[in-house]
Amino acid sequence: MNKSIVVVGGGVTGLTAAYSLIKMSAQKGLRLKVHLLEGEHDPGGKICTERKNGYLLELGPDTIHDPAGMAFSLITELGLADDIITPLRSGHSVLHNNRLHSVSSGIMGSPAQKARAILATDAISLSAKFRAVLGSFIRGSQPGIDISIADYCRAKWGDEFSQILLEPLLAGIHGGRGQKLSMLALYPHLMDDQLHLKNVKQKSTFQESRPRIFTLKNGLSTLTQKLKEKLPKDTVITGTRVKSIDPSHSEGVQIKLEDGNELIGSVCVLATPAYESSKLLALSSPEVAGVLSSITFSSTVVVTTGISTHYDQKVPYGNGVISTGSSGSMISACTWSSLKWAGRSPKAVLLSRSFLHSGMGKDFLKHSDQGLKDIVASELGNVLRTKVDPLFTHVKRWHQAFPQYELGHVGKVKKLEEYERQNPQLLLCGASYRGGSITSCVRDAQRAAKKAFSSLLQNQSEENIAISQTEGPTLWSSEMRKENLQNA
Ligand SMILES: Cc1cc2nc3c(=O)[nH]c(=O)nc-3n(C[C@H](O)[C@H](O)[C@H](O)COP(=O)(O)OP(=O)(O)OC[C@H]3O[C@@H](n4cnc5c(N)ncnc54)[C@H](O)[C@@H]3O)c2cc1C
Repeated sequence: MNKSIVVVGGGVTGLTAAYSLIKMSAQKGLRLKVHLLEGEHDPGGKICTERKNGYLLELGPDTIHDPAGMAFSLITELGLADDIITPLRSGHSVLHNNRLHSVSSGIMGSPAQKARAILATDAISLSAKFRAVLGSFIRGSQPGIDISIADYCRAKWGDEFSQILLEPLLAGIHGGRGQKLSMLALYPHLMDDQLHLKNVKQKSTFQESRPRIFTLKNGLSTLTQKLKEKLPKDTVITGTRVKSIDPSHSEGVQIKLEDGNELIGSVCVLATPAYESSKLLALSSPEVAGVLSSITFSSTVVVTTGISTHYDQKVPYGNGVISTGSSGSMISACTWSSLKWAGRSPKAVLLSRSFLHSGMGKDFLKHSDQGLKDIVASELGNVLRTKVDPLFTHVKRWHQAFPQYELGHVGKVKKLEEYERQNPQLLLCGASYRGGSITSCVRDAQRAAKKAFSSLLQNQSEENIAISQTEGPTLWSSEMRKENLQNA
């Protein structure tokens, strides 16, 4: 029987997993067959760049935060090192009680950098500054304790600093709320003062040799396109939605497709969001499907607006603006894309990206395009302190965009890991589990690929894996499959 690994989901996680599998097999001199099944017509998932008329719009992510250099290594290996560009500006502004305040990027740095950033901002009172600076030098709750971002930050740095400066930043990135999201699941390194200090030191040591925050000059889709290009022809099968997966089928992992075809893989790497993976496993593995469906997601709308550069001089400090709860703003955050990155728009246009997160009774996904354009024009006007007349506006709705690592998330991931130990032929990876950033997805894809490969090697002799690319059908229509079973 031919041995193959099937990857489901062609976002950055699935593509990196497929790439890592092919690389590992080549290193061993094997020719492993990998199929990657992607439901949409183009791979890339949330990474979605549009280039038109001199504009480069990132409709999904636009920044790679890469403290440990994992994404940098992959990008360099793919031959894209020359495409890396770094931000032109740093820091951000906070909109609180309808006033704008500058905050330098040191706010997330070492205690000394944090202290400087705290003392420099006028966003909080003097007593809150002293409390926050003091907090940097006192121990927070025990590392390893599951506690919300809000509870952890308020106890360590004080209410005012936490509510105005930290929670909107730490929870807002995930489209969630500080009271619900787990500090342990999202920021374990910040809970361990020694580890945080080590990370900060590491960052400054590496700073000269490689950037920590960057993007790609032609957009982040360059990364997913390059990953696809590096895979053997016919590996990526697009426009193919998986309907169900049975990891305990007698012949291997059975993958049924929505078009009636099916595939048997020796091992399956499931790189779809948790809510989708839950549906795929609902019949065969209801228990693990239950754990997966308990991971909730928040939705968001990204509104990209082009306005004249004569507004440039009115743009507040930093790369963008983060709103606190009390600002009454419907935009949670906005980025000045064309000021943050080179080459995002024609010279005369200031490009901004605004995020409108659903939740708290607001469902921006249901607003009409015109309604969203009006909200954004009015709120940008408020930030720029002048009437804004956009040259164009682009609306992208993301249903179930951000996995919410709520309290208890680490326990759920442990259960999924236990399931993987018992079923090494099925690996779950992606933004839903061990970090939602692109860097975390790359790391998780590489972890899953390693496990998938060793699971395959454990069960098969290497000769069995060294199959010809053209040997035998692995993608069977239901008729072919029946025939095959009858002949067996
Ligand atoms: C608006 C937005 C902004 C973001 N900004 C940043 C940022 O600046 N920096 C950062 O690091 N991260 C950012 N993120 C997060 C990051 O983009 C994602 O976490 C990451 O891209 C997810 O990759 P993934 O491969 O795990 O999942 P996805 O990209 O969701 O890929 C999953 C793939 O599976 C496919 N699929 C689903 N179901 C099936 C099925 N049944 N059969 C076949 N295929 C299926 C989907 O079509 C999709 O292509 C942002 C996310 C969003 C939404």
